[in-house]
Amino acid sequence: MQGHATLILCDSCGKAIPDQSSKEVLYQLGKVRYRLELCGTCLDAEMKRHNGHRGVPGFHKRAAIIFSLASADDLPKRAGGINLDLS
Ligand SMILES: [Zn+2]
Repeated sequence: MQGHATLILCDSCGKAIPDQSSKEVLYQLGKVRYRLELCGTCLDAEMKRHNGHRGVPGFHKRAAIIFSLASADDLPKRAGGINLDLS
């Protein structure tokens, strides 16, 4: 894979971003955790949308952010597609 760039698709907006720019975010709903990877823009929006967060070890990243949810309706809206606009 040397010389290749691996891009992550933001699980919220669908934007393609470099792996090192993606943020691992966990959403805890009762005993279930949903794992998403978000771009910086979506993470900022999520930070504002939720009152608090905790840091935990990530599965893929060294550190992840965890938000507690009251309902699955509070999961970020999915873009429903892949956005390959790299601008
Ligand atoms: Zn995003």
